[in-house]
Amino acid sequence: MPFETLSPFAKVRSTRAHEHIVEQLQDLILSGKLPAGSRLPSERAMMTEFHVSRPTVREALRVAENMGLISVRPGDPGGPKVLGTPSVGISRVLDGMLHAGCTSTLELVEMRIVLDCSAATLASMQPRDRLATLRDVYRQMQNTTELREFADLDLKFHEAVILASGNRIFHLVFQALNEPIRRSIESSLGTSMNHSREETLRHHGAIVEAIQSGDGSRAASAVRSHLYEFYFPVLKSQERVRLKSFVQAIEECGLSECEEVRAKRRGCHVSRQDTN
Ligand SMILES: [Zn+2]
Repeated sequence: MPFETLSPFAKVRSTRAHEHIVEQLQDLILSGKLPAGSRLPSERAMMTEFHVSRPTVREALRVAENMGLISVRPGDPGGPKVLGTPSVGISRVLDGMLHAGCTSTLELVEMRIVLDCSAATLASMQPRDRLATLRDVYRQMQNTTELREFADLDLKFHEAVILASGNRIFHLVFQALNEPIRRSIESSLGTSMNHSREETLRHHGAIVEAIQSGDGSRAASAVRSHLYEFYFPVLKSQERVRLKSFVQAIEECGLSECEEVRAKRRGCHVSRQDTN
């Protein structure tokens, strides 16, 4: 039998010109050499620069737009605008998965809980000057009574926790998750999420206090309670059961860990069984 019929490999197609352009744009945008808000040259200038045809430039721009790197408005005299938000590409994948029934609101919320709690733990280990934005956003939330502004600041607060963690991949995933979760909940509820201002401020205050005091375990717990109470009412009954068990299991695990740390500090050993 000839080798070709046995081989699992497909023939390699040479890379297309527009992919080379996309790679260059991606490098320049993600490295900050083309900052967010700046403009790309006109189509004609790019044709000359890259030595390619107009359809090739347009295909490259279409792909770059889908990846969240740029925004293209037909007829915009300024040229394509640099966005530099690769999370848009991931959000599109998540939206597609939700639409096809390959994932659920619950799974996205579980991801948010894991992500935000880990970020809070990392944030509590950072120097305190890293927390200036977090404190500032919290202060702004305390000072506003305007609902729309309060909701925007709520999102900024959680983003500030993620940024304070210093993990850039956390930030990318955080940005990618937000819109799919919001759209998914609003389409199933037919309304937007609602949470009392006082309750939110109380929870956020506990998060800031725990992070500032350097208590990673308490910070994670405060974030967990807040997100749980925020999302629990908007989930379906079966999803609520699973979320409750999940959060309880992590909480118990966290408490056991704390007990072990405290015991080590006291100089004695406590087995996991002793703490249950
Ligand atoms: Zn919040």
